[in-house]
Amino acid sequence: MSLPRLKERVPLLMAALEANYPLSATALDFTTTLELAVATILSAQCTDIRVNLVTPALFARFPTVHDYAASTPAEIEGYVKTTGLFRNKAKNIHAFAVAIIKDHAGEVPCTMDELLALPGVGRKTANVVLGDGFGVPGITVDTHVGRLSRRLGLTKHADAVKAEFDLMRLIPQPEWTHFSHRMILHGRAVCVARSPRCDGCPVAAVCPKRGVETKVVARLRRPPVPE
Ligand code: SF4
Repeated sequence: MSLPRLKERVPLLMAALEANYPLSATALDFTTTLELAVATILSAQCTDIRVNLVTPALFARFPTVHDYAASTPAEIEGYVKTTGLFRNKAKNIHAFAVAIIKDHAGEVPCTMDELLALPGVGRKTANVVLGDGFGVPGITVDTHVGRLSRRLGLTKHADAVKAEFDLMRLIPQPEWTHFSHRMILHGRAVCVARSPRCDGCPVAAVCPKRGVETKVVARLRRPPVPE
């Protein structure tokens, strides 16, 4: 059976994702937009679970931007060591706090342009802060959303920003944040990187499985590793 056209597939995909993942929210623990921004900076190339392990002590030591700014990157490093790239992340968090005090009276700004001007903030972090911190719809293209979008034929681009703009054209704006969260949940639970569980996948009827077959075949053809 041939797949419906992309425009017809998207609403079906969104409905299937919503039915399977009715609760859409970030897995990062936070209580303020500052905590959310810091947790998102820490989540680069790190799992949300690991970030959530370090943030309770970090947020307790640095409850405000002034606490981060008055500290040093070296002290922040001690709290975020296990999240990977920790020197860079600590430096960015410190510079982020200094810039917020200087340019935004100590408050995390709520527009894409202002967020992107801050140290350590790319479009992914900005979209998470906008979507989950301020309720402004944003499409977050992390590794899961990028991979799924390509498999589902929603974009051809490996570049996250190009993929984000393709998704913005396809997904109705009010749904951007929910859609991102549901794609992430589906990427973790079913459409995993190495061996997507296409049998029984709830969106299989609208998925062209781009790149999936070739990967599986390539893996099957690979000679066994000698013992
Ligand atoms: S059918 Fe397969 S490739 Fe498509 S979304 Fe489901 S698990 Fe991923």
